[in-house]
Order: sequence, then C-alpha cells, then structure tokens
Amino acid sequence: MMPVNTARPQPGRRAAFIDRDGVINVESGFVHRLEDLVFLPGAIEGLRRLQAAGHLLVVITNQSGIARGLYTEADYLQLTAGMQQRLAAAGVQLSTVEYCPHLPDGEIERYRRDCDCRKPRPGMITRAAAALGIDLSASILIGDRATDIQAGRAAGVGRCWLVRSGAALSEGDVDLADASFDDLAQCAGQLAPASGEPRSDLQSS
Ligand SMILES: [Mg+2]
Ligand SMILES: [Zn+2]
Repeated sequence: MMPVNTARPQPGRRAAFIDRDGVINVESGFVHRLEDLVFLPGAIEGLRRLQAAGHLLVVITNQSGIARGLYTEADYLQLTAGMQQRLAAAGVQLSTVEYCPHLPDGEIERYRRDCDCRKPRPGMITRAAAALGIDLSASILIGDRATDIQAGRAAGVGRCWLVRSGAALSEGDVDLADASFDDLAQCAGQLAPASGEPRSDLQSS
C-alpha cells in the first residue's frame, strides 16, 4: 500500500472520474507524444460543464505502455503536463491525473506487477478519493470500456457511464453501465436534468 495523504470524505464532494483515451482524446493506441494527443469533439466543452456542475475532475488512465517499454514514465509525465496546460488554457482544471504504469507480464522489470490500480481494479479511484476527500457515492465515472465501468463499480462510484467515442462496445459492455452516451459533452448535458441536483454554477458563492 502506497502512503497517501488521506482527507476525510466530505458528503457531497463529488468527482467525475474520467478515462483518457477514447473519452478525452482520440484513441489511437498508446498515445505518448503531445503531437498525437487530439481532443475529441466536445471533450473540452464536456469537461467544462462537468466542472461547472461542481465536479472535481480526476483522470484515471491505464498506461501499460510504460511496462511494455513502448515509452517511459518521463514521456508519459511530459505528455500529461502538456495536456493539463492545454486544458487549463481552455478553462479546465484537472484535480489530479492518476495512472497505472504496471502490467503483470510487462517487459520492464520495475513495472512488472499484479497491482491494485490497473483497471478493472479500483486502486486509482480509491487513491484519488482518499487524497481529495471525495464522496464516491455522489460521484460519476465516464469510460469507453467495460474495464472502466468495472473499476468504478468496485470502488463504489455512484454512477458509471459509457461513451461511444472510443473502443467498440458490445451489448454486454453497455449492459454493465448505468447509461451510455455518444461522447463526453452528451454525458455532461445529462447531468442537471438526470440528477435533479442544484447546479453549482447557478449558486451564489
Ligand atoms: Mg479508454
Ligand atoms: Zn498499477
């Protein structure tokens, strides 16, 4: 167990746990260079709206390309910094980006591990929730694969949604999720009417 700063979960402190490839950016296979990071149509708008509706934005991404030796952890961190910069310029603040560099049979010995964080396992979600005091039952997860949904379920995330902007989905995949949408913008558009919660962007602060 890695030491984490734990914050007491605050009731109603909600997050959107968002997969990266196929949800935020075009899934083109082990994306690891900033020039290959292409935001999906509506992704930035969707992130903005999730944020405006009072969600902390937490990206959770399997990065087995590191264990496979396809790119280094430093490459990954550089890409992530660039992604965060681009998003910040568009008014989107990510609270944290959690990644899993592991793979049980990976090439690189240092990352060869049957870890608790590679989705479908929930480690990235529970780690972020502990660090940020997130109320998981009030939170939402958005992914493009069954393994994203399974990780969300295992962590106890309140609502787990699939988008069709990434991996091809089977009927079985769709059945695992609470709902499925075309893309991140459509997800965000569902929030206020579906939940009936007050929109934090309409509240005075
Ligand atoms: Mg994905
Ligand atoms: Zn891991």
